Amino acid sequence: MRTFQHIAALRTYLRVMRDEGKTVGLVPTMGALHEGHLSLFNRAKMDCDLAVATIFVNPTQFGRNEDFDAYPRDLNHDLQLASNAGVVAVFHPSVDELYPAGFQTTIVLPQISSMLEGAYRPGHFEGVATIVNKLFNIVQPDRAYFGMKDYQQLTLIERMVYDLNLHLDVVAVPTMRDENGLALSSRNKYLSPEEKKAAFVLNRTLKKAEAAMLDGETDSATLLASLNEEIDSEPLAKIDYLELVNPETLLPVSTLSNATTLVVMAVRIGKTRLIDNQLVAPAGIKPVRFKKRETIC
Ligand code: AMP
Repeated sequence: MRTFQHIAALRTYLRVMRDEGKTVGLVPTMGALHEGHLSLFNRAKMDCDLAVATIFVNPTQFGRNEDFDAYPRDLNHDLQLASNAGVVAVFHPSVDELYPAGFQTTIVLPQISSMLEGAYRPGHFEGVATIVNKLFNIVQPDRAYFGMKDYQQLTLIERMVYDLNLHLDVVAVPTMRDENGLALSSRNKYLSPEEKKAAFVLNRTLKKAEAAMLDGETDSATLLASLNEEIDSEPLAKIDYLELVNPETLLPVSTLSNATTLVVMAVRIGKTRLIDNQLVAPAGIKPVRFKKRETIC
């Protein structure tokens, strides 16, 4: 596996690969790799000749009071995991490499960026959109892989790719969970054993939503009340938001009739903020996100 800290060297390597006709699948990460990230690497390897990963804890997507400094970092371990997973190149630049003095350009998707996560993390999605756009420009992948775990982030990136006619496919990869249904996340490292147990309430709540839908629930207020009750039954859990939304627009839905609904939540367990989501649908309907937009490139 090749590793690169500098844009110029990575570009030279990728130019040679592209000249040989190789397709490139990009997996952007912030490191602290786990099985969730590995599932993205595997998917990229399946679809493309070369799986390329980036490891960069992006300062511009962290708020002032967030965990940028404390975010878990273990580059050597990550490189070992990426290499074992068959990633051929890892780009792990310094902050200065990506944000040189005088940097001032920001990509803003005002609507998506202000709802749900965005309402609690001002500036977060501007940071995400900008860094992902930069990584797309640097790597110029054929496909880029994002986890459904960060559903709003995935939606934002799909929208940006469509709006700006970026020439790549965005691939959504299902959420990997542990044996108790807890969505894998680098931030799970912050949880004490007691908090980890408490965190199982997120998946229990998603399962409750799934069951209620299969049982014929059609009123979103009723379902929301019972989901809130489930989270509130866990003393260590505090809800930031818990909503039933349209899986394409992320706007709240009032009835849960014949369509797929996204249950989406952010819950604090002690000092750790966890997000999770699930697509749910009435009995007989397969939960689907939405019809993919045709790319106009
Ligand atoms: P991060 O390193 O947290 O920025 O995540 C990098 C990518 O991995 C993002 O596209 C995430 O959505 C994805 N990811 C994180 N956790 C999971 C998971 N449990 N299952 C699948 N993908 C994940």
